[in-house]
Amino acid sequence: QADTAMYRAKESGRNSISFYLPSMQESADRRLTLEKEMRVALQERQFLLHYQPQVNEQHKVISAEALIRWQHPTKGMVSPAEFIPLAEDTQLILPIGAWVLQEACRQIKAWDLQGIKLDHVAVNVSSRQFRQSDFVQQVKQVLLDTDIQAKRLVIELTEGCVIEDIEDTIEKMQALQAMGIRISIDDFGIGYSSLSYLKSLPLSQLKIDQSFVKQIDNVNAAVIVETIIMMAKSLGLNVIAEGVETLEQVNFLTAKGCLNFQGYYFSRPVPADEIKFTL
Ligand code: C2E
Ligand code: MG
Ligand code: MG
Ligand code: MG
Repeated sequence: QADTAMYRAKESGRNSISFYLPSMQESADRRLTLEKEMRVALQERQFLLHYQPQVNEQHKVISAEALIRWQHPTKGMVSPAEFIPLAEDTQLILPIGAWVLQEACRQIKAWDLQGIKLDHVAVNVSSRQFRQSDFVQQVKQVLLDTDIQAKRLVIELTEGCVIEDIEDTIEKMQALQAMGIRISIDDFGIGYSSLSYLKSLPLSQLKIDQSFVKQIDNVNAAVIVETIIMMAKSLGLNVIAEGVETLEQVNFLTAKGCLNFQGYYFSRPVPADEIKFTL
């Protein structure tokens, strides 16, 4: 049943199976199957990371975002939009997230040894993972184990995660910042951030959500984008746009003062050895 659903979804939505809305029963069956399969996937090492380049003003690759992929033995690549929410519901995000951190840091080291010097790699950390009482200690240990400097790691948190427990967030962010780790707010603009609380957080970067970038030719979206860029400037933060697909978007963003980009216009997420470095 679940496989049929997956097959239909794949056919109709190309490879975007995440947009398929199955019936309730189908959905429950499928979640249970996926949950079991995720446990196996961890043991059998079916997860891998792809990396999407981030470019600067000169459109040179200076960093990359690590994005998890699941190479399922029969279903092919499963989108994180499909399994990360379920992993979050089932606590499986804890071992998965720990693996992502370790693997991304291992890759930084591997690139270093190959003479490929990326400024940093950005890693997505989900709320559940961040809320663990020993999260900061875990990160510290990974840096030690992989022998990389803290400044090579950027942690991406969503606005929702940040505001869900603001005191815990501030405490952890300060500890991470003291170590030298930078923090970026992912999908920025769709949440509830106000200038007043952003001021109290030790952040490095705002990442403009791709939904605004996509509709940048729409006046409302354009105004939001400009506002985010102005907010970032007034707070002394770096700003990056994600989901950049066209030269028009690049030009608009550049004109407004956003000089860092990530999106299909520059590169899709690719396996580590396929990144085209332009350093
Ligand atoms: P995100 O962190 O906001 O990542 C950006 C997503 O946008 C990625 O989808 C990326 O492939 C896609 N993207 C980048 N540029 C473009 C573009 O120009 N056009 C379009 N249409 N899409 C673009 P992906 O890899 O499917 O990941 C989806 C989400 O899954 C991520 O959103 C993140 O929230 C989550 N995720 C991915 N990897 C991890 C992980 O290792 N840990 C956690 N906790 N979450 C992850
Ligand atoms: Mg992200
Ligand atoms: Mg994002
Ligand atoms: Mg997103």
